[in-house]
Amino acid sequence: MDEMEEQETRAERVQEAQGRADLHTHTIYSDGALSPEHLVRKAKAAGLAAIAITDHDNVGALTDAVECGQSLGVDVIAGLELSATLGEKDVHILAYLFEPSNARLLEYLEFFRRERLKRAERIVRKLNQINIPLSLDAVLDQAGIGSVGRPHIASALVEGGMTGTYGEAFEKYIGFGAPAYEKKYQVSPEEAVQLVAQAGGLSFFAHPGRSTTEADLLELIRVGLDGIEVIHPSHSPSMQEHYRRLASQYFLLTSGGSDFHGGKKNDNGAFGSYGVPMHVVEEMRRRCFRAPR
Ligand code: AMP
Ligand code: ZN
Ligand code: FE
Ligand code: FE
Repeated sequence: MDEMEEQETRAERVQEAQGRADLHTHTIYSDGALSPEHLVRKAKAAGLAAIAITDHDNVGALTDAVECGQSLGVDVIAGLELSATLGEKDVHILAYLFEPSNARLLEYLEFFRRERLKRAERIVRKLNQINIPLSLDAVLDQAGIGSVGRPHIASALVEGGMTGTYGEAFEKYIGFGAPAYEKKYQVSPEEAVQLVAQAGGLSFFAHPGRSTTEADLLELIRVGLDGIEVIHPSHSPSMQEHYRRLASQYFLLTSGGSDFHGGKKNDNGAFGSYGVPMHVVEEMRRRCFRAPR
């Protein structure tokens, strides 16, 4: 082994020793199956050094998760997954390291969750009009304390025997273009990115591999995107390479995670194998221009 190879191996060993972080997970505060404590315990058991909980439009999991993380030695990072509309598309923006008590952010999240509830009501009404006897209560039972979304509607349809499978619920009823499809409240990527920035956080393009184009990415960069989610279960190695190259070309940070929801959806035992080395988290913290959060 020559000197350079030796140095590289040493650097890799140092990185490994610092551990890994899963920067995309969900709990019962959105459409995940686990409580914040349960998720943090699972992260500990999987050997993760850090975890970001990125519930849809909800930061409710953070306090309990941080407390549990402190007792177990898991670094819990403030996170969120916001929805925005780009043309006809629903794009997801991951937010990290914002101030969790930021008033404008909290106000927005509350507003958006109320809008989600109104949309669930509209979807149920449309389903009823096509003789699918789903009740709003059945949907709310699925959602519990979490931000109401189509995943809860799909689960309620399956539970009530109104569709065979979760995927079929989207295909036949609530997916884009299906008869009971309803748009979410429309927020532009610019509004979402600015909301995160004014709360001191960073914005990342979530799972860009999901039918987004380079023009979409450029639009997000134009409005102040900080990074791209490179590692995601839906990204093949060549897609990861593609997004890593784009991140480098446009001077963006990178992130990654499992998008774990638990329960029936994706608890396939792969939790712990999608993530990033801890130096990626350190880079994010440096980009915040503030004391570590
Ligand atoms: P919502 O935020 O309420 O619009 O729900 C969006 C979520 O529903 C996505 O994050 C996916 O988890 C899920 N979803 C959307 N479309 C489909 C689909 N065609 N099949 C399965 N799940 C879907
Ligand atoms: Zn989700
Ligand atoms: Fe998403
Ligand atoms: Fe997600």
